[in-house]
Amino acid sequence: MSDIIDIAIIGGGPAGLTAALYGARARANTVVFETALPGGQIITTDWIENYPGMPEGLNGARIGELMHAHAEKFGAQFRTFAQVEKLTDESGGFRIEADDESYLARTVILATGAIPRKLGIAGEAEYTGRGVSWCATCDGALYRGKTVAVVGGGDAALEEAMFLTKFAERVHLVHRRDEFRATKCIQERCFANEKIELHLGRVPVEIVGQAGKVSALVLETATGEAAETLEVQGVFEFVGVHPNSDLVKDLADLADGGWVMVDSSMGTSYAGLYAAGDVTNTPLKQVVTAAGQGATAAFEALRYLDSGVCPL
Ligand SMILES: Cc1cc2nc3c(=O)[nH]c(=O)nc-3n(C[C@H](O)[C@H](O)[C@H](O)COP(=O)(O)OP(=O)(O)OC[C@H]3O[C@@H](n4cnc5c(N)ncnc54)[C@H](O)[C@@H]3O)c2cc1C
Repeated sequence: MSDIIDIAIIGGGPAGLTAALYGARARANTVVFETALPGGQIITTDWIENYPGMPEGLNGARIGELMHAHAEKFGAQFRTFAQVEKLTDESGGFRIEADDESYLARTVILATGAIPRKLGIAGEAEYTGRGVSWCATCDGALYRGKTVAVVGGGDAALEEAMFLTKFAERVHLVHRRDEFRATKCIQERCFANEKIELHLGRVPVEIVGQAGKVSALVLETATGEAAETLEVQGVFEFVGVHPNSDLVKDLADLADGGWVMVDSSMGTSYAGLYAAGDVTNTPLKQVVTAAGQGATAAFEALRYLDSGVCPL
């Protein structure tokens, strides 16, 4: 591509796809770089029921497809399976290295989202893909008639535990605190599900295997005493996310934990560089906030382009 990109968007999740829609609809030359297929984390969840205007909810991957099609309809261009390896400043704009090619952009919106955090306990690495998973939608069907553990206490953990009951005979829900932080209505539905057994105040300390597959999850109390060993064939972890912010660590200010610091216009500390969605230091990590922030970032990038500040 020889043209200079007006708005380069790194990441094709809900934040990036919404930014692409707003940028392309305003007739800016808008290009989305995405490591995999567009959609982001929602591809890994079966059902989203808290996106406004969809009272019945919708499959996560389907929302991703619709957001992608919507942005493309208005002229956004996509570089899929193109991981951005390097982002540097050049001539008042940005140099982007992706997929063995080099691109020049006037503005950049970082929408690289987040990846699931790991528990970091014994057996986790050894049994990843052999019973340890971070995606119930991808792997749930493998546990038909079996027993699994879900670790976590937020919306994702409880939603995914309920989803897993479609397949598993029993789902042990393990949380280190005495209370869940998931939304109350999700808790109510979860507690009413007879296949789900709660283990509150329990900390997973080891994943045990037999014949190369997960066979048990060892739990301790919050104060470190031995508690119980759950016989399970799968362990699903939903204990938060970690931001994909390495690309901008030398360009923009990061908050503790690596989140990209943004102002109310989604501007970072570097002129012309915006960030939106789960990668930012804003507290609510949801599809609706990612979409809203993507729209704001594109709107501000367009204003920046119109202001003529960028020398490119
Ligand atoms: C299991 C689960 C259930 C959830 N349930 C809900 C729910 O019910 N309701 C709700 O509102 N939210 C839910 N969420 C949260 C929601 O998915 C996220 O808040 C949302 O996806 C964040 O969007 P994003 O665009 O900021 O980032 P992401 O969705 O993380 O997308 C970022 C994209 O950037 C790409 N990327 C990263 N680095 C690069 C790079 N260097 N180059 C190119 N591309 C890159 C990634 O491949 C990814 O596609 C759930 C999340 C999970 C994991």
